Parts: sequence; C-alpha cells; structure tokens
Amino acid sequence: MHRFFVDPKCFSGNRIILPADTAHQIRNVLRLRVDAPILVLDNSGAEFEVVLRQVDRQQVVGEAVAKRPSPNEPTVHLTLYQALMKRDKFEWVLQKGTEIGVSEFVPIVTQRSLVQDIDIKANKQARWHKILTEAAEQSRRGRIPELHPPQTLAQALENHPAHPGLIAWEDESRLSLRGALGGGERPSHISLFIGPEGGFAAEEVEAAQAAGIRAITLGKRILRAETAALVASALVLHELDIIQTGN
Ligand code: SAM
Repeated sequence: MHRFFVDPKCFSGNRIILPADTAHQIRNVLRLRVDAPILVLDNSGAEFEVVLRQVDRQQVVGEAVAKRPSPNEPTVHLTLYQALMKRDKFEWVLQKGTEIGVSEFVPIVTQRSLVQDIDIKANKQARWHKILTEAAEQSRRGRIPELHPPQTLAQALENHPAHPGLIAWEDESRLSLRGALGGGERPSHISLFIGPEGGFAAEEVEAAQAAGIRAITLGKRILRAETAALVASALVLHELDIIQTGN
C-alpha cells in the first residue's frame, strides 16, 4: 500500500485533503482512483489507513478509517553527528541512514571537513528534507528523521544531551563498539560522531572525550566516512535494537 507523510494541518477530523504534490503523485503518477486505500503518516509515530473519497483536478481527499502506532520505528533513538562531506556523499548518508533507522541527523563542521560553512541555504535544507521524507516513505518508517541545522563540533559537544555518545576514531585501538555498548542498562537514546574524509583531529577527539563521548574503533580497516557512518549506525541499531528487542 502506498504511504505518504502529510502535514497534520491537512487533517480535519477524519477528512484529509492531500497537499498538491502528494495529490499529483496519487492522481497523475500512481493513477489511484476513488475507494483506493493508502497509508498516511502525520510524523507523530502514528499511521492512518485512508480510503480515497475524491480524486480530481480540484483536489484529492481521503477519509481516515483506522489509526495505529507505526510498528517500524527502532526502539533506540540514534542521533548521527555527521561531519559535512561532499554533497553526494552526505546526501547518501541521509538516505541510507534513514533506511536503517537513524532518528536524528546533526551535520557538523570539523577542522578537516571539506565544507566549513554552517549556513546552509534554504533550498539545500529543503532538498535534504525531501531526501529524508522519500527515504522514510520507501523504507516504511513511522517518522521522518529530524535534521538539525549544521553546527560546529564544539557547539555539538557543548549542547550534547546527557545520554551516551560514541565517536568513531581510527586511532582508537582498544574499545570496540560492542565493548562500549555491552553491559549496563540499554540506553534509549545514543549519539554517534563520524568524522569527515580527513578524519577528526586528535584534539577534537580529546574534546569529545572530555564531554563524556567515548572513542571507539570500527576495526583495523580504514572506512570511508560515508561507509563508517552506515556501518557504525547499523551496528549500534543491531546491538541495541534488533538483538535486544528482535525489532
Ligand atoms: N584518518 C582516515 C584515513 O587515514 O584515511 C581518514 C578518516 S576516515 C576516511 C573518516 C571517518 O570514518 C573517521 O573520522 C572516523 O570517524 C571513521 N572511521 C573510518 N574508519 C574507522 C575505523 N577503523 N575505526 C574508527 N573510525 C573509523
């Protein structure tokens, strides 16, 4: 069944007037007709079974006939702090990270990140949000991951919440990701910091450790930044979500 994230403002009781872009997709691309069922998500974690009641050039209207929590969200909230990289690589991390279950993305500027500008233009933010929305629809997520405005590593560390955090550092030789996650109470929220193509500077890792973030190794092979982002995120979700909850 086709799924669409729709702004809650489109709901009026059980009646949903689909926004223009979604209406176009339903009417002109998917060619769905009246009485066709679709799934609508309001990004609250709930999903609505909807029956199309009107499909014409004026508007597309549906009626919500059932509501339930979306079963597909991970039970651990992973925030990925990803150093800004070349656009295609960064956007690939947004898309694939959404598919595997990342809940929040924080783009960070580090000493060696190729992009040093934390002011991202509105059209790029909109593009990034579209990538997240489409990946969330395709992977049947119950929520669209949150995307923060870019910030410096120092700002990210200063504002880091009290939950556990890991920074992947290829010069770390002792603590593995499993070692860092094993034992103790399973966290409901965890952060993961991944550096840019040029890696974190030693003093950046030290600053992270001073903020309570633990440095971990991902093994002896050096992964590209985008590879490390996906591998480490998948391993965290696998350790904390799939293994422990069978989710
Ligand atoms: N210093 C690396 C080199 O020699 O090519 C450059 C950094 S690596 C391409 C990009 C990022 O991926 C790093 O900042 C780190 O966060 C992560 N990373 C890659 N391989 C890793 C490993 N074996 N252990 C921990 N982190 C790794």
